[in-house]
Amino acid sequence: MAMIEWLRGNRRERGSDTLCQGETPAALRIGDHLLPVELRRLRHARRITLRLAPDGAAVRLTLPPWVPAHEALAFANARRDWLAAQITRLPRSEPPGPGGSIAYRGMPVTIDWDATFARRPALEGDRIVIGGPRESLATRLVRWLEDEARRVLAADLAAYCAAADRPVPALALSRAQRRWGSCAACGTIRINWRLIMAPDAVRRSVVAHEVAHLVHFDHSPAFHAMLASLFEGSIDQANAWLKQHGRGLYAPFG
Ligand SMILES: [Zn+2]
Repeated sequence: MAMIEWLRGNRRERGSDTLCQGETPAALRIGDHLLPVELRRLRHARRITLRLAPDGAAVRLTLPPWVPAHEALAFANARRDWLAAQITRLPRSEPPGPGGSIAYRGMPVTIDWDATFARRPALEGDRIVIGGPRESLATRLVRWLEDEARRVLAADLAAYCAAADRPVPALALSRAQRRWGSCAACGTIRINWRLIMAPDAVRRSVVAHEVAHLVHFDHSPAFHAMLASLFEGSIDQANAWLKQHGRGLYAPFG
């Protein structure tokens, strides 16, 4: 299913796209779900396109500039049965358990759990060895991933700040549902903890993007030139990975 990524910057970087700001926010009730409707105008769109967000959390409409918002909403409203069917088809996400696997820096890692093992998780080759109660296994796995994210992201941040000749700003882990990274005017950089599950190059591209914002607080050509000089890999490939697999990082733990 096609989707729109909400990686910070993408919206503005597509020169031909504009957001429908100022239009009334709408929501559709579908069964037990009240879903926000996200309208997006595309200059080159020739028709209205309706999608359920891959995580089922929103209804997305793209529309040509000349179509009034109410018409697009009526279009979605008339297709509530279709949306309801899409919702029932969403994969049920259950946190991975013993014998299952999680992704760690782009590699699958098997969960080797036994109540008698040490509580503190330890990475041993392609296994994560973890003890403690079964009921809190998922919580402790998330905590471990977050600790790893903090450690690895701090190293990424220090390296890119050195390259950009900027002091290292405060780093905060974000639990945002739609953003991979952000850079506040006060200098704090927030990075989504789930990126610890993505390949190193993908995670690092997001850190490099935010560090480039410490110098250029926009998405100007100068910003992109800086990002290209900071990041050692291909930004296009990293963005393509996020577009294709990014939502999947929300599957195991929500
Ligand atoms: Zn940006």
